[in-house]
Parts: sequence; C-alpha cells; structure tokens
Amino acid sequence: MKIVKKNDRHILTLKRAKNGVEYLSFDALEKYSNIVQGFSTRTGGVSTGPYATMNLSFSREPDNREGVLENYKRMAQALGVELESFVLSYQEHSNNVKVVSAEDRGKGVLFERDYRNIDGLITNERGITLGAFFADCIPLYFYDRVNNVIGLAHSGWRGTVKRIGANMTDLMNRHFGSKAKDMVACIGPGICADCYQVSMDVYEEFSKSFDKKYMSDIFREDEKDHFRLSLWRANEIVLEEAGVHRENIFTSNICTACNKEILYSHRVMGEKRGNMAAFMALK
Ligand SMILES: [Zn+2]
Repeated sequence: MKIVKKNDRHILTLKRAKNGVEYLSFDALEKYSNIVQGFSTRTGGVSTGPYATMNLSFSREPDNREGVLENYKRMAQALGVELESFVLSYQEHSNNVKVVSAEDRGKGVLFERDYRNIDGLITNERGITLGAFFADCIPLYFYDRVNNVIGLAHSGWRGTVKRIGANMTDLMNRHFGSKAKDMVACIGPGICADCYQVSMDVYEEFSKSFDKKYMSDIFREDEKDHFRLSLWRANEIVLEEAGVHRENIFTSNICTACNKEILYSHRVMGEKRGNMAAFMALK
C-alpha cells in the first residue's frame, strides 16, 4: 500500500523487517548508529477486526492481551531490541516527564507501570526502549548528540498547549546537562491540518499559550467558529522557542487520517481502533 505524503520531502522511510513488521523510520536519526527508533504502522501484527493488525495498546479492549504481547514481540524483533527493554508512557494529556532507568525495564509490557500521568520519557541509559502511543496525536523524538540522551513524548492538542516539548528539553537539561542547541528533534506522524477541524475553545486555549504572531501560522480559519489546526507547526514553534535549532527539527509529512489503511486514526475510526507506538532506544 502506498503512503500518502503532504509534500515531497524525505523525512520518514517505510521499512519492512524480515518478520513482516512495517514501521516508519526518521531519516534524520538513521545516521546515528547508536539510536534505535521507529513508528509502528498497522502492518505485521496479529490483532483482528478494527484492531488489525499491529495494535500496541493493552487497554483497547476487547483486543486480547496475548495478541498485543505477540505484537510487542514482533516489534522488538523488527527493531532489534529485547522485549524486556520496553518502558511505556501512561498518557493523560499532561506535560509530565519521567526519567527512566534500568529498574523500569519491562514496565507497561511485562509488568504493571507503577506510575500514572506520564506523557514524556527521557533516559541516558542503554538497553531501554522508550514507548508511547498514538492515533492522531503527535510524537516528539529528542536526541542530544553530545551527551547521548534520548526522549520521547506524546503531544496532542492539550500537551501542545502545555508545551510538553519544552518540558522535555528542560528536563533533559536538568537531569543530564543536555543543551537544546545540541538536540535533533523529530515531530512524528499525526493528524494534518487538512484533516483536523477544531472549535473555538481549542483556539482560545492556544491563544493563551502562544504568542499572537504565531496564531495564523498554527490555525487556518474554517467554517463559522471553526479552524484547521496544525499540531505539527505548533510543536515546531514550541521546540524552536525552547532553543532547538530550526535546521535540527524534522517534521513528518505523513498524516494518520490521510493514511487510514496503514495507520490508526482516532478522527477516522473513533474508539474502535488500535494504537500505534513510537519507540526510541540507545544501543
Ligand atoms: Zn490528513
């Protein structure tokens, strides 16, 4: 199946692992041989019905736990990481970020998570595969090339208003000495502005968080009291204001809703759907 792109830039490449798992990989991160990263598609798993096939959320019932666990095993194999290495977010549209260490390995896949309300994960340890869930919201990937620190965040419209991207760079700095100027940031697949109509209340929340000069960049006027929202652009602004250099920010041109055969989209499918996941690890 062919992926629909919003422009001709080479940002993400669709990869097919030997076991049939297909995932998207950021070209900008591929050149760092110590980084593992990917964004799953619907292809290569065992889930059925509206969850077909690569659902990576254990909480989307009635999809069964055994099937999702098998999907994780296949994903681990495709990425070349250990099943025990996964540490998953517990997303509640917050801007909370957790520092992950070896003792967290397996949490969310093999063990219960002993944390809640965590939308961002950072680590400087090898052998940990950070994971977060998506079906239209925006994944943010961070790599500090100098100190070898990684981060992964879930940034839907609420997280974007709360500037989770800036919290990520702040906490990477506080815990590991990372500087935004040394970071590569990738803004992943999510819903595009053409597919994302929002109402006035969303516009008003953004107007409290973003400088007036950016509002026409982030929103396009639509029918009465409605707008088209570019979460991709809004997250670029958050990252630029946090000090990440513009030339080090790589924004997806692949929309989840434009590619509903290949990717899950909440806007298109509603609650009866699976979840994709973003992954990042230090080798
Ligand atoms: Zn779209």
